Amino acid sequence: MLSSSPRLTSRFANSLPAMCAPWSPVPFSDANLLLLNEPLSRELGIDPGWLRTENGLRFLLGEELPEDAFPVSQAYAGHQFGQFNPLLGDGRAALLGELEVTSGGSPETAAPRDIHLKGSGRTPYSRGGSDGRAAAGPMLREFLISEAMHAMGIPTTRSLAVILTGESVQRNVPEPGAVLVRVASSHLRVGSFQYARMMQQRSPELLQELADFALERHHATDSDTPLDDSDYLGLLREVCAKQARLVARWMHVGFVHGVMNTDNITISGETIDYGPCAFLDSFNPHTWFSSIDQQGRYAFGRQPAIMLWDLERLAESLLPVIEEQLDTDTEGAVAAATEVLQEFPSMYRNAFTRTMVPALGFTTAGSDSPSSEQRALCDEFVEWLNGAQPDQLSVLRSLATLAESTNLTVSASASGDEEASALPPAEWLHRWHELNPDAALMRHTNPVRIPRNHLVEEALQAASYGDFEAFEELLAAVTDPFDSTGSEESGVEKKNNRVHDEKFAHPAPEGFGPYTTFCGT
Ligand code: AMP
Ligand code: MG
Repeated sequence: MLSSSPRLTSRFANSLPAMCAPWSPVPFSDANLLLLNEPLSRELGIDPGWLRTENGLRFLLGEELPEDAFPVSQAYAGHQFGQFNPLLGDGRAALLGELEVTSGGSPETAAPRDIHLKGSGRTPYSRGGSDGRAAAGPMLREFLISEAMHAMGIPTTRSLAVILTGESVQRNVPEPGAVLVRVASSHLRVGSFQYARMMQQRSPELLQELADFALERHHATDSDTPLDDSDYLGLLREVCAKQARLVARWMHVGFVHGVMNTDNITISGETIDYGPCAFLDSFNPHTWFSSIDQQGRYAFGRQPAIMLWDLERLAESLLPVIEEQLDTDTEGAVAAATEVLQEFPSMYRNAFTRTMVPALGFTTAGSDSPSSEQRALCDEFVEWLNGAQPDQLSVLRSLATLAESTNLTVSASASGDEEASALPPAEWLHRWHELNPDAALMRHTNPVRIPRNHLVEEALQAASYGDFEAFEELLAAVTDPFDSTGSEESGVEKKNNRVHDEKFAHPAPEGFGPYTTFCGT
């Protein structure tokens, strides 16, 4: 465990200088560490005690980095609500460098992780009039929700720290300024590829350099899915597969990302950008929360289709290198990329079924794919959810209790609370129960404590008055989301058998009303 400044590499800055601009800090003389993710710090091999020192704080703010570090802001383009913007880029963010993380102490498993700041000041990519800053509320919100996602086992960028800058930022009212220290397996986005594609005239090599960098970063030989050098079509397919799995996980827990612009879609398959996101309290596909999404482009039920739209933009950007790889013409490259994109709907369907099968307590013993009856029950369940629009996690929790009882009819009617009325039809229940659903499997697949909108608001409201008790309690609850015991195999870190308040497991009370989120700028 390092008790001094960790070494950072500058792979991105060195490999792709045309895609970034040097960044230098504007020191915050009055900064204070507000929140530190100690488990993540340890996972990264950095002593959390050191991060709490003055030197640690200056490292986290990018003010005191190892001598050879080369912090940069990254350039990217992107479609925002369908409109192409050729130059977005980190308008208030910086990549300090990459940290070599050796999991289990083995150098073969070393993987670079980006150490990134958000809210760290203006950059060459800041638009006129924007301040390059962030307010503490939205940074705490990102910390809370991204760590909840991680605890549920959903791929995501992580949050290492929130630092109060000691300055105030002007939003509707003056608010305390903050910097979020974010950790990601990379910050390559669909928009990064759109940028490189757009620069083809001026920098003909850039697109290939970026694609090679992405292959090396995410698909080098020791990764789960090794790809050959220069397999750009393979890269497209892998990004499609990862994003299909990611959206499937979002749909299971009722996560509405809220701003699926192409600059917010990663190549790694990690969820990124927690601005306007929120969770469903009722399984209604037409739900969206973001104040700037006037047409509901990014509504819950549209997420798989929108992801495909975004991946089409990635495919378009990759065409020149696919053409080269296949030694074909544009038409040939379009045909090959189209074939990959056409696989996306089935990739998504399979990923969603694979998520819902254990969610309903079914194991697929021996054979890899679920039985046709398991599939049918999943499909019917989701169809029922779309119609009845209950809080699906409450239903799944009730079903786990039913799975344990031998007499389905008696327990279904005897449970008597309001959730019993939100159970699937009796005929479905009987067929489901016949397959002996595994309650323990259900409990470590279906989270119980997620960042419910009303709880997030309440906690952030109190935090804005300097009272962090509710925030800390909520953070503890949502980073321990499962009611299961012995969930080692799900990879979830078990907290110290904390007993959580039941309030964390339920949707908002009637009076909470419609919920609106803001982009958090
Ligand atoms: P987002 O909606 O967070 O994906 O951000 C879209 C773009 O706006 C990105 O290029 C951000 O860097 C930029 N941006 C957001 N907030 C600010 C801010 N306060 N100052 C400068 N740039 C910003
Ligand atoms: Mg963004």
